[in-house]
Amino acid sequence: MTKRTLDAPDTGFSSLGLDPRLLDALTALGYEEPTPIQRTAIPPLRAGRDVLAVAATGTGKTAAFALPLLHNIDPTLPPRMRLAALVLVPTRELAMQVAEAIHRYGKPFGAAVLSIYGGAPMEQQIRSLKRGVDVVIATPGRALDHIRRKTLHLDHVKTVVLDEADEMLDMGFAEDLEAILSALPAERQTALFSATIPARITKIANSHLKNPEVVRIERAAIAPGETAKVRQVAYMVPRAHKMAALARILDVEAPESAIVFCRTRTEVDQLTETLAGRGYRAEALHGGLSQEQRDRVMKRFRAKGSDLLIATDVAARGLDVKHVTHVVNYDVPWESESYVHRIGRTGRAGREGVAITLAEPREHRLLRNIEATTKQKIEIGVVPTVADLRTRQLEQLRDQVAELLNAGELDRYRPMVEQLAEEYDVMDIAAAAIRLAARKVESEGEPDEIPNLITRGGDRDAHTPKPARQGRREFAGKVGGKVAKIYVGAGRKLKIRPGDIVGAIAGEAGLGLGEIGAVTIGDRHSIVEVPEDKADFIIAKLSASTIKGKKVRVRRDQA
Ligand code: AMP
Repeated sequence: MTKRTLDAPDTGFSSLGLDPRLLDALTALGYEEPTPIQRTAIPPLRAGRDVLAVAATGTGKTAAFALPLLHNIDPTLPPRMRLAALVLVPTRELAMQVAEAIHRYGKPFGAAVLSIYGGAPMEQQIRSLKRGVDVVIATPGRALDHIRRKTLHLDHVKTVVLDEADEMLDMGFAEDLEAILSALPAERQTALFSATIPARITKIANSHLKNPEVVRIERAAIAPGETAKVRQVAYMVPRAHKMAALARILDVEAPESAIVFCRTRTEVDQLTETLAGRGYRAEALHGGLSQEQRDRVMKRFRAKGSDLLIATDVAARGLDVKHVTHVVNYDVPWESESYVHRIGRTGRAGREGVAITLAEPREHRLLRNIEATTKQKIEIGVVPTVADLRTRQLEQLRDQVAELLNAGELDRYRPMVEQLAEEYDVMDIAAAAIRLAARKVESEGEPDEIPNLITRGGDRDAHTPKPARQGRREFAGKVGGKVAKIYVGAGRKLKIRPGDIVGAIAGEAGLGLGEIGAVTIGDRHSIVEVPEDKADFIIAKLSASTIKGKKVRVRRDQA
């Protein structure tokens, strides 16, 4: 990692009233500036105000409520008095994620963070609670369970957060939430985060929030056509495989010149190293570099001395380059405007540019927001398989051969061909020569297959690409053990995509991606494969919630 230098730009976090130890922790995590929701929600939360925030997953909302509440903890208090913050979340998966994030941010304070959710053994949770914790992240049902057993002591709680409040209501937690909120000290701070604000949320806010500061990030108007000349593709990739997926996509796309945007400087450094290791002329550009270093990197990129510029938004600000063929969003940008601004850097001077976005399944709402703002569809791409890569490499070889043929200057080699032609067919000779050239690429080792969330219709194996079936894609997960098929009463007509189904199951029922099998989307229904022993649980969870804002029929598939 690059050392922070004196003339590095201000992190932007310093004006939010945060403890300096937190600022250091954020710098160490590679955060360069607050996201819009952080910029607007942190100051009122630090001031002790109640907050009602409209924010979806992927906007940085976790840090927006986590950083302020860490100021209220006191690990020196006796265990029974220690619990200072309670965060309520809809699913086990989110509970674990939020706990992990708060643990990371809270390290310099020595914060003890515990997630409690249904399905895990009670005893272990009780033991941890007895030892004393500063922050509890809980699903409502389990939190209430502990409150009733008097194993969760709320008397000294200063902050309560309802995270993804609309989801909690959709899952039928309204009564549990009411009970928990009533059991909390009246003198407390309440923060409600929700992706949408339906009437039921307003009702909770009216009865449980005191004069809340309402935080919502207004969408800037985007002039139509601003992104018209850009082909936009998104790939749904689990976090763990993002780097390999991007490398593969770049190998196949073979961009002449690309900017890759990352969220943190840590990511910029890692990605630059990986891509440079794969033979790209890649350079890092982030706020940890001195102005002089940054100028040098940009100058080289402008002069086409590097192919890939891996950058944070902050560092790339003001960068004007004419020849960029591809813009890559290594993460979905926080704001639609930032997306538009980023991809506006390609597709200039009448040429078509390409914008590639890597999204985790849970970030599908951010993609939707972008589509709504730009009024353009983002195509969902299929991460190229090893076979695709091989095909592409052969195409590149063909182009190189054609170039050589056009350039002439082959006289030196003609006698050899003539000599071989006395004995062999000329076509065979050419094929053998190409095979020899192809071997060079192929001998570079068999690359790993990247687990693909979305593959071409019916192609579970992904080794033998078949032509894409129009409008039909499948989530290609494989489920171990006995498999059940679940029927979901929504399909193409409701614009359902595999990501919606996978996202709903992962989000509502807390399943890992490895536990979700093939998804088939029909006109009016979808079928998804899940482990038999979780089928009923998933049906219950999905039935209680909504998919794309609609209640849909969910049952076992009888076909
Ligand atoms: P969330 O919306 O809370 O799920 O956050 C999405 C991702 O953004 C997480 O991986 C965070 O670690 C990351 N993140 C949050 N805030 C920032 C920031 N200010 N700069 C860079 N990354 C961030």
